[in-house]
Amino acid sequence: MAPSCLHTIITVGAWFIANRPPSLYLPHLHIYYFHFISPAVSVMLDRQMMIRGTPAPTPFDHPDADIVLRSSDKEPVDFRAFKLLLSLASPFFSEIFTLPQPSSPLLYPDSGSLDGVPVIQMSEDKETLQILLGLCFPVSVHAHPRISSVQQLQKVAEAAIKFEMQGVQNHLKSEIVSPRFVEAQPLRVFAIAYRYGWDTEARKAARLTLRHPMNVPFVDELEFISAATYYRLQEYHRACGEVASSRVLLQPALADFDDPWVWLSCRRCPAAWDVRSSEYPSARRWWAEWIEDVSEEVRRRPWGETARKCDLLNKAVRQASACSNCSQSAKEDLDAFSLMLAVEVEKDISTVNIDIDFDDWSCASPTT
Ligand SMILES: [Zn+2]
Repeated sequence: MAPSCLHTIITVGAWFIANRPPSLYLPHLHIYYFHFISPAVSVMLDRQMMIRGTPAPTPFDHPDADIVLRSSDKEPVDFRAFKLLLSLASPFFSEIFTLPQPSSPLLYPDSGSLDGVPVIQMSEDKETLQILLGLCFPVSVHAHPRISSVQQLQKVAEAAIKFEMQGVQNHLKSEIVSPRFVEAQPLRVFAIAYRYGWDTEARKAARLTLRHPMNVPFVDELEFISAATYYRLQEYHRACGEVASSRVLLQPALADFDDPWVWLSCRRCPAAWDVRSSEYPSARRWWAEWIEDVSEEVRRRPWGETARKCDLLNKAVRQASACSNCSQSAKEDLDAFSLMLAVEVEKDISTVNIDIDFDDWSCASPTT
């Protein structure tokens, strides 16, 4: 590399650092390296075999574009974009575009220009760039991009944070807690939200992990959180399981003698316990066994709907059918009672807080 080139790169880096507080430029030092120094070196080496990317689809093929972002794929894709739109979306790009722009390709180090338009070699792949830029382009020129997976969302989030695109980050936060992501894959969502310090989203995801047993298979996103954070998530799960289970087991003691439930009014089938020593109404054995089953299940999966688990309800109804009295209204009573119990379980779980601290979340934040 020619000494003048190196000098220009270092000057740009020094300007970048001098004009920004450490909290902003430190996370971007690697960007500076990857976007300026490393590509510049590779350009010097590869200038003889210039790569021309495949044109991106509409709307990233506009002839009036004034900047081209080239994807990192083996077969790169060129996204034609507009500096103004990128500047509005990203303080990072805004500052980059205000830097003195020499005729040399150093600010746009990969390949100089494409049909006279400067090219920036990006470290993002084409799918990530398509969504990222799609969220920067107005809906008047194309439909908002749809994110198809949690993994894809994470890659876009990584780029949006790198380029300080707050609006894109806000959109991703609302996307990641949409049911198709957070209900289907709460552990993955928790790890991603925690990685980026998205407090509200991480807590919502943590709550939804309760719908599954804690011993779930490994997911790649666990790499984003520390062992301590995962331990706290497990502790939260365990605490919620205790609370939910206790709430269910408390239920017999809350019964009144004039409650209308068939398991309290029936005197034909076996009772669950000795009524003479009881301070509350004696329930039928089939119902007491159902309560015990539910208390075990909510310990494993502590959320209200567990109280309405079909196979447990069906088992109780089958047992109740042995009694001519209970069989008449066991199903109806159980449906109503389990619904009420589910609400109470959810209410009690809401009082449990997960012990995660986002004040120092950056310790677990992106480093690559
Ligand atoms: Zn009965």
